[in-house]
Amino acid sequence: MAIPEQFIDELLARSDIADVVGHYVRLTPKGGSLWGCCPFHNEKTPSFHVVSERQIFKCFGCGKAGGAISFVMEIENLSFVDAVKVLAGRAGMTVPETGISQEEGHKKARILDANREAARFYHGYLQSEGGARVREYIETRRLAPKTVKTFGLGAAPAAWDELTRHLTAQGYTKLELIDAGLVVANKNGGLYDKFRARLMLPVIDVSGVVTGFTSRILPGEEGAKYLNTPDTIAFKKGRLIYGLNLAKNTKRDNLILVEGNIDVISLHQAGFDNTVATMGTALTEDHARLLARHTKELVICYDNDGAGMRSTERALGILKNTTMGVRVLQLPNPCDAAGNILLDEKAQPLKQDPDDFIKKFGPAAFEKVLNGSAGQNDYLLDNLRVQFDLNDENGRLEFLRKAVETVAALVSPIEREIFGNKAAAAAGISGHAFSQEVEQYRKSQGRQARKKQERRDLTPTTQLQPRERELRYENMRSARAEEGVLRLMVLDPLLFREAGSLGTEDFSSPLLGKVYTLLKERYESGRSTQLAALTGQLTPQEMNHLAGVIDQPEDRANSRRALQDYIAIIETERVKRQNTAQAADPLLAARERYREKKAYGGAKV
Ligand SMILES: [Zn+2]
Repeated sequence: MAIPEQFIDELLARSDIADVVGHYVRLTPKGGSLWGCCPFHNEKTPSFHVVSERQIFKCFGCGKAGGAISFVMEIENLSFVDAVKVLAGRAGMTVPETGISQEEGHKKARILDANREAARFYHGYLQSEGGARVREYIETRRLAPKTVKTFGLGAAPAAWDELTRHLTAQGYTKLELIDAGLVVANKNGGLYDKFRARLMLPVIDVSGVVTGFTSRILPGEEGAKYLNTPDTIAFKKGRLIYGLNLAKNTKRDNLILVEGNIDVISLHQAGFDNTVATMGTALTEDHARLLARHTKELVICYDNDGAGMRSTERALGILKNTTMGVRVLQLPNPCDAAGNILLDEKAQPLKQDPDDFIKKFGPAAFEKVLNGSAGQNDYLLDNLRVQFDLNDENGRLEFLRKAVETVAALVSPIEREIFGNKAAAAAGISGHAFSQEVEQYRKSQGRQARKKQERRDLTPTTQLQPRERELRYENMRSARAEEGVLRLMVLDPLLFREAGSLGTEDFSSPLLGKVYTLLKERYESGRSTQLAALTGQLTPQEMNHLAGVIDQPEDRANSRRALQDYIAIIETERVKRQNTAQAADPLLAARERYREKKAYGGAKV
């Protein structure tokens, strides 16, 4: 391992899990542990807890579990080495740079350096003669010089390898440039620039680092309209929010989520410095969590065409359980002077994105629609209403059926009443009748959920099995006892003295056996026996499973007695396994008989 184990021990001694998690999650004590809303899935009632005594966290909602290091790896999306660095920084320690860790850290640092250098190159090129076409394009988008500077916009030359040559001259190797996604190798091993003849937008993460680029094609060129850096170790599209590095400092009390990067820029320029966008991908749970860390309210403002409306509904689905308030800003359809909605060649209303809208009507008009944007429930009901013909009986019934489902899904009874009344009024029935339908629907849903749970409870063994197939237990009875032994050892390492010769080969589960031995070796050499100390030696899945094991209740008052009981079970099961193996293999059985004969001087056979 690259980082010395003594360092990890010292780091864990100085990084209490409650402090580490408390950095990201508000925790409240309840029944001997600390509870909070899980940062890994969206929820409003806490099912995530931290047990200081065992130095682990576990979520009963999504099943995520682990120690201090795995928590930081997971929440910051870091490798083991990088998570250790983050924790060390907070604990005022410096990670000794050795071997591989240095190499890995070095690789990422080189990629980030190359990105910064490329951003400088593109920005400089924009001012040069070769940048004229991109400058022209920027003018047509009416972006001011100050905006160009704030966002670090640049121009990629209309040539094959200008950036490649520039960065190679700076000492970057070909491999580094390929790893950074800035350069592509052709079939013959020659290199050329990934981005050519494009407007370049550096993508800067919340910590202010250029992680990669997005780019827009110039008018008249061929190729993809938008092109991003491919996923690299520094650039993960599904977790990046464009503009958040600036928007996180806004004085406004919400964030506006738009579809396009250029929309972000033009809205910032118009004074809406709270605007962000995903990187041309649909909103993910990771995005939602990242946003929730920076705002209390999110306003979705996607394009007002069919695609935009579908994306809005999908995003509302992702945001269903978020802690943020969610509103939807639907831009009005463009009209002519007489107020008629303008149509395209398919007789659909013309699309209008936030950039168009701001240019046509100005910031004050946008402010107005922003203030008037609908809450997500109103938006969903409005959308439902326009899908059905409410003058027709069948249309009304269909609308009511859908509206009942939508309203029944609302958690708060007050919201159910308010939106129930609105839906009822729209369909011309009484609010009372509607709310009865809703409650009936909720009851039947509850019954279904209970039945599902009962079915699950009836098959406890599948419940107790590790989630990952390769970790599955072969011998459930023994495995439960083996889990108990590990739990006791983490709670009270002194018990290792009472465990006699118990060793890896007695365990039916290779994973539990391996962990037992690792912890025992640590105990014997006076090192930390926290589960988190093994983070570097276990896969994240193994860590997740083991923290769940350690989290289960254990009778501490009678820990010695419990240990002996566990060991007795493990022994019995081991003998059983041996007998079965012997029965299946006559040669093995004969050998075993011979061994016994020797041991007991032949008296027993
Ligand atoms: Zn969770």
